[in-house]
Amino acid sequence: MMHHDKETMLLEEKSTIKADIEPKGVEGEQQTSAALARSCQPCVICGQVETQEVLRAPDRFHGRQQKYSLVRCLNCSFVWLSDPPQPEEMYLHYTEAYHKLISAAGENSPGRWRGRVETARAYKQAGDILDLGCSSGGFLEFFYNQGWRLYGIEMSADCAKRAEERTGAKVFVGDILDASFSPQSFDVITCFDVLEHLYHPRQVLEKVKGWLKPDGIFYVQIPNIESAEARVFRSYWHGLELPRHLFHYSPESLKLLGQACGLRPLSITTERNSAVGTSLRYVFDDIFRTVGIRKRPIAYSGEASLPWKAARKLARLTVLRALLTMAALAGEGECIHGIFQPSTPIA
Ligand SMILES: [Zn+2]
Repeated sequence: MMHHDKETMLLEEKSTIKADIEPKGVEGEQQTSAALARSCQPCVICGQVETQEVLRAPDRFHGRQQKYSLVRCLNCSFVWLSDPPQPEEMYLHYTEAYHKLISAAGENSPGRWRGRVETARAYKQAGDILDLGCSSGGFLEFFYNQGWRLYGIEMSADCAKRAEERTGAKVFVGDILDASFSPQSFDVITCFDVLEHLYHPRQVLEKVKGWLKPDGIFYVQIPNIESAEARVFRSYWHGLELPRHLFHYSPESLKLLGQACGLRPLSITTERNSAVGTSLRYVFDDIFRTVGIRKRPIAYSGEASLPWKAARKLARLTVLRALLTMAALAGEGECIHGIFQPSTPIA
């Protein structure tokens, strides 16, 4: 069991600059597909303990060196981080830089919110809506004053306060598993880019099932580990977000998890997004490192320089387009949209 105490992690944080100037070999992808490992925990979906290592990779976003191992259940193919950081040390992996990126993504993409709002409204036009991990209310805001009662759950007290001020929503501050709502309270429960960060997805979905009205819907979005981009980039895929993403879903494993929690899938689809640049940057960083050119990790680098942008654009238009075209034959979009409804009890 790899244990990383607080001190070591802080040292690692401080040594980021050192890592930038100290040459070392090509780190990253090591295929260990033959390795059969007994994971630290049985599969959350099916209980199987036999797993296979899928890949080992570091936190490329922060440019750190510790490697993490992803394993796949041999029975149902669910993928998870086999030795995640302890919850009490997880804050070391959610840096200021990370939060900045996330909130910028939330503020700067009204288009993304709009798509989600339209999907939710296609199922329900009014009622009680709960957004899990509502952040500062970017999504809930669209439902303000439209015949909806708004609720949220959010870990950050600051974000929760902003969401309340902005939307009038009632926001529970803390862990989803500690929140208590009456059974069958909600017409819609949403969960965007959150489920993959949770230690206990099964317990959370069981709570969701209990909180939904019998005809309510659960709308979840998560990265797709079976996507074309994930297949092309493997350990460089930006959606891995090691070690912040604890579970890695495919349309199939999401469906199985939902069903295991009493949620019936109404629709599971995938969609492309345009974060190819980040995965590509991780690949380039590693290539440049082998020839002695070091770039600051993406977390600390700010805006890319013009030549760098041009190089990326060129790669995106040529090599990448070819790769993705090929991969598209065998893969799907990077983002899974799942819509579930409580299963009807058999009379
Ligand atoms: Zn399994």
